[in-house]
Amino acid sequence: MYSCGPTVYWYQHIGNLRTYIFSDILKKVLKFNGYKVKHVINITDVGHLTSDADEGEDKIEKAARKEKKSAQEIANYYFSIFRKDIRELNIEEPTIWCKATEHIKDQIEMIKILEKKGYTYRTSDGIYFDTSKLKDYGKLARLDIKGLQAGKRVKIGEKKNKTDFALWKFSKKPGVRQQEWDSPWGIGYPGWHIECSAMSSKYLGKQFDIHTGGIDHIPIHHTNEIAQSESAFGKKPWVRYWLHGNFLVNKEGSKVSKSTGGLYTLTELKEKGFEPMVYRYFCLGTHYRKKLVFSFENLQNAKNSYARLKNLINETKDDSKINEGYLKEFHKAINDDLNMPKALQVLWKLVRDKNAQGKIGTIRKMEEVTSLNLLKKEELKIPQEVKRLLEEREKARKQKNWKKADKIREKIYKLGYIVEDDKEGTKIKKR
Ligand code: AMP
Ligand code: ZN
Repeated sequence: MYSCGPTVYWYQHIGNLRTYIFSDILKKVLKFNGYKVKHVINITDVGHLTSDADEGEDKIEKAARKEKKSAQEIANYYFSIFRKDIRELNIEEPTIWCKATEHIKDQIEMIKILEKKGYTYRTSDGIYFDTSKLKDYGKLARLDIKGLQAGKRVKIGEKKNKTDFALWKFSKKPGVRQQEWDSPWGIGYPGWHIECSAMSSKYLGKQFDIHTGGIDHIPIHHTNEIAQSESAFGKKPWVRYWLHGNFLVNKEGSKVSKSTGGLYTLTELKEKGFEPMVYRYFCLGTHYRKKLVFSFENLQNAKNSYARLKNLINETKDDSKINEGYLKEFHKAINDDLNMPKALQVLWKLVRDKNAQGKIGTIRKMEEVTSLNLLKKEELKIPQEVKRLLEEREKARKQKNWKKADKIREKIYKLGYIVEDDKEGTKIKKR
């Protein structure tokens, strides 16, 4: 399984992270069903231009200039933050991470194959893929090629067809860009699409099972990955299953992005009081193929619901048996095209079912997929004042001064905490 990874020129925003939560669920559902998953995620650290087509500036080079850092520093920094973000979201790391800049040779080799087979041509700007050579170009997105070509008002410059795309771009003035490499065609850098084709095939073979990404990738990035890979490797289909996560959007329905505002990072959510697990829970509440509307109101609802769920589970007696009925229902939901909203409903029903056996054991099993820290006990952060009172109360109890102990218990209650004594000792929890 290959997932298009982050372009590491900035923080990944919570929209991006929704897509990785989706691929994490997919992977965990496959494992739940007994499959072994070899998962590759790439790091795009060169070649992704400010427009998904072949115009604009390289995002990494632009960020490096703006932040007065080297391209590599930029890429390493934002990659490390991304890794921290996914760890906090309980997204499992892939089997293999691969960076585009560490696989330039593989990309050049693939372009050479395409050249030999007659799929490429040269312009003053780079080496391009001739999409008119393929009868089925655009099949993934069901692109209306004729319509696209007819509306040729768009300037295509030296390109032969509107849909043709760059495999290798020439450095305009060698020595100016930070990241450029020599190639049989001249000094330059790879196109964004060839990176994913070359790296996925290097690690997963010339034909593999699953490829994921966000839905924005369907018409250009993934369409072009298919075109060049099927042409180079001669295998059809190159990828057996494509799965795409729908977007996190604003209330107006526009996608959450830098330009439309409403684009937050995980750290910003935390600063506003929303823990990563709340965001994961929020994402699981909507099917991956549906748009998810982001607002703080919606996120607050998820936060309340998540807290209620955790509290209920916290009060449930440990019992490691499995409730086969509920587990079966859960399994059916996740296997139905990853229906996580339904799976969460089953989980809620189990938690609320007063007669159900094996609750904790079953939740533990469900957590292999949901990964919401539902069984993780929160460490209670007790204020200094309450701690002092607790000690004082302990002393009073030792002296068998029950009246004093009860008074202190009341004081603690007023500060928002409940004190309970049982055989094992004194326990404290939030009111
Ligand atoms: P990028 O770093 O721009 O290459 O994007 C990383 C991943 O996030 C890609 O799979 C995109 O399709 C996905 N993505 C971008 N914007 C959103 C969004 N608003 N909601 C969900 N996924 C997104
Ligand atoms: Zn990709």
